Amino acid sequence: MKEIPGKNIKISEPAVTGQLTVVVIDDSSTMRAIIQKELEVAGFAVITFSDGLEAISSLAWMQKPPDLITLDIDMPRMDGFECCEKLREKEALGLFGNSEARVPVLFISANDNFENRSRGFHLGSLEFISKPFARGDIAIAVSRVLRPQATFAGMTALVVDDDASVRRMVSSCLRRFGITILEAENGSLAFNLVKEDVNRIDLAIVDFEMPVMRGDEFIHLTRQLPDAEHLPLLSLSGFGGESGVLQMFRAGATDYLVKPFIAEELLARVQVHLQLRRHVRYLEEMNKNLYERAVNDPLTGLRNKRYFQENFEEMFARALRARADISCLFFDLDHFKKVNDTCGHSFGDYVLKTVGALVKKNVRCGDLAARFGGEEFIVALPGTGLDNAKFVAEKIRALVEAHLFSDQGRQCPVTVSIGVASLLENQPANASDLLQLADQALYIAKDSGRNRVETYMV
Ligand code: GH3
Ligand code: MG
Ligand code: MG
Ligand code: MG
Repeated sequence: MKEIPGKNIKISEPAVTGQLTVVVIDDSSTMRAIIQKELEVAGFAVITFSDGLEAISSLAWMQKPPDLITLDIDMPRMDGFECCEKLREKEALGLFGNSEARVPVLFISANDNFENRSRGFHLGSLEFISKPFARGDIAIAVSRVLRPQATFAGMTALVVDDDASVRRMVSSCLRRFGITILEAENGSLAFNLVKEDVNRIDLAIVDFEMPVMRGDEFIHLTRQLPDAEHLPLLSLSGFGGESGVLQMFRAGATDYLVKPFIAEELLARVQVHLQLRRHVRYLEEMNKNLYERAVNDPLTGLRNKRYFQENFEEMFARALRARADISCLFFDLDHFKKVNDTCGHSFGDYVLKTVGALVKKNVRCGDLAARFGGEEFIVALPGTGLDNAKFVAEKIRALVEAHLFSDQGRQCPVTVSIGVASLLENQPANASDLLQLADQALYIAKDSGRNRVETYMV
């Protein structure tokens, strides 16, 4: 820890040799604390200043310039832009850092507008982060600049070229960004790798002319694979290879480079594709989550009513067409209101979860079990006739009756009534009528004393 004379500012110099230092300039102490914490957790040494003037006069005291500066825009006395301009002037005069390698600046501001972004850009700012930002955003942005090797860690590129020196050059460029490399010397070997697990690969860089299998054929085959629709495929082609480029695009390439190319261009293109790839994967993941939420019941994990209705109709139509059996079980817990009233709502939830699990465990994987409403469940049993459906229903009824429902010191017997209905000699004619029949059978079960299985025929 070093004190700047007369300024009451403490600078903690990097404790670990090689540790990178980030200067954070922001007039809000809360904001400074948040950014500092995030960057320290990410392993950076952090120095904070509460405005531009203070920062400018203090930075000169540092033994070496920081590795990066984050700058707020709206600050009293001297705003972020003026502060950055002053720094750039000092750099140009050789008074701070050096003008060859200017200190990277990252603006963090609530005023995210075109004018501010444009001013930041002209001052050589690399990124503009708008407030409020999400947890982790700052560390990610700073790491992107200061630790390129972490940028694409975990991502894999496949390099396909019959020329070993090209493979070596491309691979060593990409490894600097933390990209894992797979190499193949022709399209056929590459395709074997891709076929094994296309999801393992985030990008392929492919030469055009190769023995055994050319690049365009490899690209064409790869594009047909399931899950390879969005795989970035960057083609490499030799001198005067315009027709090769076109053939590669026709086969499904995403982008191309003409040999000989410079490392910077290769990296620039790879970065664009991998960032997009990451984003697409993130969106796919989010989509999957949203889908799960849209079709499942959060309490029991069973399908919900919407999913059931959308799929049951199709199941029923298929059975009708194939003259196959299909049955439906409609469950309703007995006197469940009383269970809730005596043992509490959370015990009621526990019962629903447990019954849901019992149902799920005792039907086949082609069956469709759903929570239909509050304390109602429904199961569609394709390929199952009335007798077998009654058998399944009776088994579940008996299991619920025999189960010891016990949670957080509370216990309560639980029973269920079940209505069963089946498609018999093309009757009923549609899915919703079959549900109606099961519902009527359930009504009879309730009426005849509950904890029973009943059927209803047309
Ligand atoms: P019956 O034997 O005639 O079916 O009587 P019942 O008390 O089960 O029927 P009723 O329809 O009167 O009550 C259903 C109860 O189910 C009332 C409601 O509070 C409870 N319930 C519905 N959804 C949930 C839930 O998600 N959690 C809990 N704990 N209870 C629920
Ligand atoms: Mg401010
Ligand atoms: Mg009910
Ligand atoms: Mg009930």
